Amino acid sequence: MIPDHLQHLIRSDEPLAPLTWLKIGGPAHFFAEPVDLDQFRQLLAWATENELPVRILGGGSNLLVRESGFDGLVVSLSAAPTSGFSVSDDRLTAGAGAKLSHAVVKAVSAGLGGLEHLVGIPGTVGAAVVGNVSSGGRDIGQAVQCVRVMQPDGTIREVGAEEVGFTHRKTALAGTTIVEVDFKLEPGDATALTKRLQKLWIARNSTRPSHTDRIAMPFVDPDSMPARELIQNVGLAGLREGDVSLDSAQPHYLVAHEGATSDQCLRLIERVREQVLLQTGIDLQLNLQIW
Ligand SMILES: Cc1cc2nc3c(=O)[nH]c(=O)nc-3n(C[C@H](O)[C@H](O)[C@H](O)COP(=O)(O)OP(=O)(O)OC[C@H]3O[C@@H](n4cnc5c(N)ncnc54)[C@H](O)[C@@H]3O)c2cc1C
Repeated sequence: MIPDHLQHLIRSDEPLAPLTWLKIGGPAHFFAEPVDLDQFRQLLAWATENELPVRILGGGSNLLVRESGFDGLVVSLSAAPTSGFSVSDDRLTAGAGAKLSHAVVKAVSAGLGGLEHLVGIPGTVGAAVVGNVSSGGRDIGQAVQCVRVMQPDGTIREVGAEEVGFTHRKTALAGTTIVEVDFKLEPGDATALTKRLQKLWIARNSTRPSHTDRIAMPFVDPDSMPARELIQNVGLAGLREGDVSLDSAQPHYLVAHEGATSDQCLRLIERVREQVLLQTGIDLQLNLQIW
């Protein structure tokens, strides 16, 4: 089924669990890390021809993969040509596969402000923009000038920020593939920006469970109150379902323990949503993507 010219690029039955923060789930039927956009185009053409669904994997920090895995093609854009940066005046251009944390540091060291509040959010630039990540009440969309998306026919289209449709933790781009992002930032003093970044980094680290990296932030903060406070108030901190629990100090984090399964995660999430709805009338929305 895999043509000769793509044999070296596509791996079959690639385990996805090690590529996600929760370390749960089965394999991708096909998996590839194209070295550039041309290879990515070839992969998309092959997937279309064979009617295979395609998903982009970023840093795996917002993903729960089921044990059945993903019956399609999973693509990682982490190769150098799809994860680089360039700076021109007040604009930072980042490849979708670049780490968000690297984009933040790159901007600050070039004397450009506007991304520092996002320090410490794991994952890639592409996923951050498609999911409009936010921290401290500000979302990434406020700094985005335009994005470039790869269309199913392999052409690249530029989409302005308005068309991206940034709303709270959402965009109209879900289901498309971002390949590059232009940020419009505010020129400032690199030293002052670095100091601000360091302070924000320390503050953020103090609010993350320190005992494990197998964590996820499953819920979107509702408008009325941060999910952490809401879950705490409802008395669900530390709630456990099999080998999955809410962190007892930072209950907006779900923690996967040895033996955790995707079903346990989903059951825990449902229990939290039910209890929060029952006690407060707030319908917590899911941020975590389920594959
Ligand atoms: C410790 C921790 C702290 C967090 N803190 C925050 C926070 O403060 N604020 C916040 O908003 N979120 C937060 N998150 C959630 C998470 O980090 C973000 O959602 C992040 O953007 C996910 O990036 P990723 O590269 O890991 O995406 P992945 O988990 O790999 O993928 C997530 C989704 O994005 C899609 N995607 C990936 N790349 C692309 C692309 N190039 N084009 C189109 N779609 C793409 C994937 O297909 C998938 O549907 C946190 C998570 C953790 C574990």
